[in-house]
Amino acid sequence: MRAAIEAMRNGMNVAIVSKVHPVRSHSVSAQGGINAAIGANDSWEAHAFDTVKGSDYLGDQDAIDLMCKEAPEDIFELESMGCLFSRDDEGAIAQRPFGGAGFPRTCYAADRTGHAILHTLYEQLLKYGAPVYEEWFVVSLAVEDSICRGLIALDIHTGKLHRLRSKAIILATGGYGRIFKNSTNALINTGDGMGLALSSGAELMDMEFVQFHPTTLKSTGILISEGARGEGGYLLNSKGERFMKRYAPKTMELASRDVVSRAEQQEIEEGRGVDGCVFLDLRHLGQGLISERLPQIRQLAIDFEGIDPLKELVPIKPGAHYSMGGIKTDVWGNTNIKGLYAAGECACVSVHGANRLGGNSLLDAVVFGRRAGQSASVYSKENALAGFPENLLESAAGDIALIMNKTSGQRAASVRDELASVMTMHVGVFRDKNRLEIALAKIMELKGRYKNIYLEDKGEIFNTELTAVLELGHLLSVAECIVTAAVHREESRGAHYRLDFPARDDKKWMKHTLLSKDGDSIKLGCKDVAVTKYMPMERKY
Ligand SMILES: Cc1cc2nc3c(=O)[nH]c(=O)nc-3n(C[C@H](O)[C@H](O)[C@H](O)COP(=O)(O)OP(=O)(O)OC[C@H]3O[C@@H](n4cnc5c(N)ncnc54)[C@H](O)[C@@H]3O)c2cc1C
Repeated sequence: MRAAIEAMRNGMNVAIVSKVHPVRSHSVSAQGGINAAIGANDSWEAHAFDTVKGSDYLGDQDAIDLMCKEAPEDIFELESMGCLFSRDDEGAIAQRPFGGAGFPRTCYAADRTGHAILHTLYEQLLKYGAPVYEEWFVVSLAVEDSICRGLIALDIHTGKLHRLRSKAIILATGGYGRIFKNSTNALINTGDGMGLALSSGAELMDMEFVQFHPTTLKSTGILISEGARGEGGYLLNSKGERFMKRYAPKTMELASRDVVSRAEQQEIEEGRGVDGCVFLDLRHLGQGLISERLPQIRQLAIDFEGIDPLKELVPIKPGAHYSMGGIKTDVWGNTNIKGLYAAGECACVSVHGANRLGGNSLLDAVVFGRRAGQSASVYSKENALAGFPENLLESAAGDIALIMNKTSGQRAASVRDELASVMTMHVGVFRDKNRLEIALAKIMELKGRYKNIYLEDKGEIFNTELTAVLELGHLLSVAECIVTAAVHREESRGAHYRLDFPARDDKKWMKHTLLSKDGDSIKLGCKDVAVTKYMPMERKY
């Protein structure tokens, strides 16, 4: 939406296509906040350093500098659009401490920051009058001769396929967290954009880096914001010990997410957990603070875990949360396909490297969304509308008919479930070659079985069984990329921890992993990390 607003300001004719109503996008559930160095004693350079360190030195430092420098202006712009940020005593935008940050730099709207930002941007879209094709599902990108010419989308209401011609397409399709069983992500987060881009010839980057958030609810994986620890919550093991003192003595619960998730997993695996969990203790924060700053997470714990954090310990464990990798772009959202742009979680600029800091993802989406909107506008002014590939609509219709017409075979749900199980078991917080290879073999088996998927629902109207099958195709190809890259990277960096290669290896691995499609297989490549002024150091919290 931020990209669309920018393009409309540049006089472009823009439409949004979304498989759900725009305000039901996963961004709406972002809780903790959005980072910007707007504090009197803070600086964008300090924000950039924290981000580089958080990325375990894999983030591109030129891109990180740019994001941190432009952040304050984007926050003030959101504010002037009407975003209701929480306030400090002086009436300025309030900021809270977050993991891996050396300064309380996270601007927030209680614990519903994504909701506040998303609705503000949607109001702006209404103001500009952009048409929204809502509940339209993109099934393929129209790319020929490495030029993007539009897309094919399924109108979920009618089951009809449509051709949408355009000079430029900006993918902002979010993450793939649903590849894993225990996930904070919405059901719609199935990596569609990454799958579409990959099959159209775009490169993906750094797919091995999956962020596991340290505090997700035991039974559902629902997120309990890092804001809970930012506001002073503790992590306890079964002995009642604040175990983080052994893993990150200086910053304790506010070390970066990869460090805290690994610490929890180690406590659990060494027998100091309870029922596969450790505990989050918020009781000492008191009713006043919790009601004012963490009302939603209290309600989530009551509704989904039957636990009131005012009085009880909350059982939590690490869960899949964020995709650091994605469609490779430069700082203007350009991919390697002309006219195809990407921004937000589906893109990899890269500003998060091997581990994203909390509060930097909403920022990434806003800063690089704006930039992608701007560069797509320039491109559209300079280029004529390219011809739409002949027969693309017919071939997309043929692919769907093939699935619809099968009368027996596999159901999608069982394949999806087996994929999530194997990813959770073997591609989690701790990895090794053996387990990764088991996972890859299983993914290849599931890809084979995917060809035999059939549907019980043969209807055209709101056939969500059909969209689930299309989503499963993307989950499988994204999973293959994650595991292929994870096998390849023989070191431990950020969220990618290899038990068989426990050290970071800067000599060999200050490199991004590139992935592209080569017939039926995945081709690997690499690209040097952009290092400007922050030399790699040991990372301690
Ligand atoms: C529970 C939770 C809490 C979070 N909290 C924070 C936080 O406090 N701070 C922070 O910085 N980050 C947070 N994050 C991360 C951050 O919210 C996301 O990375 C970011 O909002 C993603 O925005 P996006 O615009 O890239 O994608 P999304 O908001 O996920 O939107 C994706 C859009 O693409 C559309 N789409 C996808 N596939 C298709 C298709 N095939 N056809 C048509 N449309 C399609 C969807 O309909 C949707 O509109 C959180 C994430 C989660 C899951």
